[in-house]
Amino acid sequence: MKLHQKLLVPLLAVFLAVVGYVYLAWIPALRDDAEAEVLNTLSHHLDSISEGLVPLMLASQIDVVHENMNALLATNPDWREVIVTDKAGRQIFPLIGKKPPPPTPDQVLHRFDKPVSIGPVELGRLTVVVDRGPGVQRLRQRMSELGVAFVVLALIMLVGAMVVLEGAVLVPVRRLALASKALARRDFSTPLPQASADEVGTLVSTFAEMRESRRETEQALQDKTAELERSNIELEQFAYVASHDLREPLRQVSSYVTLLERRYADKLDDEAREFIAFARDGAERMNQLIVDLLEYSRIGRIERPRETVVLRQVVDDAVLPLGVEIETAGAEVAVDASVDAAPPVPGYREELVRLLQNLVHNAVKYRRPDCPPRIAVSAATGADGVTVSVADNGIGIAPEHFERIFMIFQRLHTRAQYSGTGIGLAICKRIVEHHRGRIWLQSTPGQGSTFHVFLPFGDA
Ligand code: ADP
Repeated sequence: MKLHQKLLVPLLAVFLAVVGYVYLAWIPALRDDAEAEVLNTLSHHLDSISEGLVPLMLASQIDVVHENMNALLATNPDWREVIVTDKAGRQIFPLIGKKPPPPTPDQVLHRFDKPVSIGPVELGRLTVVVDRGPGVQRLRQRMSELGVAFVVLALIMLVGAMVVLEGAVLVPVRRLALASKALARRDFSTPLPQASADEVGTLVSTFAEMRESRRETEQALQDKTAELERSNIELEQFAYVASHDLREPLRQVSSYVTLLERRYADKLDDEAREFIAFARDGAERMNQLIVDLLEYSRIGRIERPRETVVLRQVVDDAVLPLGVEIETAGAEVAVDASVDAAPPVPGYREELVRLLQNLVHNAVKYRRPDCPPRIAVSAATGADGVTVSVADNGIGIAPEHFERIFMIFQRLHTRAQYSGTGIGLAICKRIVEHHRGRIWLQSTPGQGSTFHVFLPFGDA
């Protein structure tokens, strides 16, 4: 129900109740009171006439009685009959017993019977029959005019109230509602109603202040975002150029070391060859470090729209490039049916492939020497998202390292034991955070580890 309907319904109800009361109770009561007042006044008037008859009756001035009564009949057209009798009950006016005309239906006859007396001594009686028909008719007419005037007045007041309400409340509220809807769409330009000096005006000016402060915040945020995007692009270019420029001399070192080895092969002893191998290995590791660092720095830097990612495809794309490594290690990677059943998640496909590749790669790499790696990839679908798990039967991790291993360059082993740069899990953590998810693990040293990754459906 709209606001004006909500206001109109009670106003109409009050209007009808007032009109009903006026027509059914107030006007009839007013009419009855007025009629009673008229009859009362008439009765007093007849009392004074009967008092006036006393001296005339005492002096037996019948002709004067006649004169007076005829004069009264002439001046009061609504008096139908006047009868004066003496104390013996004989009619002394009118002398001839004129029969009054039979009453018509619109006549309302009232009969007044007054004694003509001095103290307790009654000298005769005065009887007057008055027709109140025309009087009552006039009274009714006036009362219905009064009722109509009242209804018209109440109607004018009702319409006036609605017009005032429309102008002072409903129109500004409607425009304010439009402006708030527009504000929700970040449109700050919708014109606002004039702020009047009442409560609605306060609402309008408060809304205007709120909108202005929101506009300023939004503007500041936009400026900041633009600045951040600019600096991100600059940083991206810097990282790319720096990595390119750093890798170039490394390539030079590598190729000259190789050249040295090839050209002077017959002149080099075993120790010199070992030194050259160390130098090449160092250059290669440095190269890998730069590549990994560049990748780490790129994750989530430039915000792109998310895609709908099918987990099974991500797992397949992650495992495929590890084929040689898996085969060499005699490993088995089993992808559970729950991965096929998992619903698609919003995300960045390439990043998720990289995430799973790192986990499966580690599961193969950190195997126990005595048993071939058995790796299981599964998924569990919850109300808020999907949890992907990669379980292995490798060397396991002690619980005190559970946090540390996700930090950059944190390794639990020497290079001689297991190769690596210590960036892989840091990259995984960053990718998961970019997806607003979570990464954690369960592990028993000597038995194996399970890494869990929660990927939410929404932005929560
Ligand atoms: P990297 O493998 O290059 O050393 P990561 O960041 O991938 O770097 O891993 C950090 C450390 O976590 C590793 O050095 C290793 O000790 C431990 N680790 C990671 N994955 C596993 C796993 N599946 N089983 C046992 N240890 C692991």
